[in-house]
Amino acid sequence: MPSRAEPKPREKAEPFVFAGETVEPGQRRRVKIPIAQLSFGAPVSLEAEIVVGRQAGPKLFVCSAIHGDELNGVESIARIARSRVLDRMRGVLILLPVVNLFGFIQQSRYLPDRRDLNRAFPGSPNGSLAGQIAHAMLTHVVKPCDFGIDLHTAAIHRSNLPQVRARLEDENLKQLALAFGAPVVLDAGLMPGTLRAAAQEANTPVLTFEGGEALRFDERSIRSAALGVIRVMEALGMASRPHRPGRKRVIVAHASKWLRAPAAGVLRSEIRLGERVREGQELGYVASPFGEGPQPVIAQHDGVVVGLATMPVVNRGDALFHVAEVGDAGAAAERIDAYAEEVMQMPALWEDPVRS
Ligand SMILES: [Zn+2]
Repeated sequence: MPSRAEPKPREKAEPFVFAGETVEPGQRRRVKIPIAQLSFGAPVSLEAEIVVGRQAGPKLFVCSAIHGDELNGVESIARIARSRVLDRMRGVLILLPVVNLFGFIQQSRYLPDRRDLNRAFPGSPNGSLAGQIAHAMLTHVVKPCDFGIDLHTAAIHRSNLPQVRARLEDENLKQLALAFGAPVVLDAGLMPGTLRAAAQEANTPVLTFEGGEALRFDERSIRSAALGVIRVMEALGMASRPHRPGRKRVIVAHASKWLRAPAAGVLRSEIRLGERVREGQELGYVASPFGEGPQPVIAQHDGVVVGLATMPVVNRGDALFHVAEVGDAGAAAERIDAYAEEVMQMPALWEDPVRS
């Protein structure tokens, strides 16, 4: 397990200073990080929930909606915030459900100037709006933490199978990625400008979770992420392991490939998320609106489908099916199905907001 910031047994926590505010051990507080001013003069702040355990331990941040239209993670964080696990946790947990608040209110991936916040890291206090938010995130949230988890969904008109993406050459991060328990872990390099890349540079390793689609809630993805965060907290020693069924095998993929539209037209898909595919298999076809001139989309290698287009009207070259290469695709597909059932049947670790 990660050695970094591993607490000595029963060491008492220190007060945690966040964005100039002090949160005492055993306290939780909502803290604002000022980031910008709207054009008519109103100030804008990021809202973070800070939970400080009575005992010392690692510092973990969990954020979502860096892409403002990716909402599953917002709900996952709401559930983590209500989880009883937080009542007796060790260390510090920072929850930020809405990072790109401009995109969130506009139902858009982007900021008002069409910039992608997850390409603007590390940012600068004197840069664009995206650069200012990125800089504030890095300064106040990422750098003070030992680890982070960044929750995403697929981009608009696509859907992702619940999956973790991380640089598996980092052994500590690999252990956390496996502990998260999502059915698939993709060994993913660092793309410049992303939170994950800038955080790694700042020596705060970050896992990215992907699940579901933009502008929609997907219960399986919401639960996968909430449960995954709690499992990472257990792995870090921030939370005690409750009595429930042990973790099952996670499928690790070291490569994945998007299959693209061979022509413009209407896509008829013949495969669903999590299904196994064989090299040479037809996953769907693109044809004219009348169904004429079908051109097949052919799998280039064995694997499982971890992402796909949900929008049937396509241009030539559009990304249609994301296939992860895994050792035993048949066993992987079975594991993915079993996980989907497990996660939906598992008793909630959080309070139900409707009943509470
Ligand atoms: Zn995203």
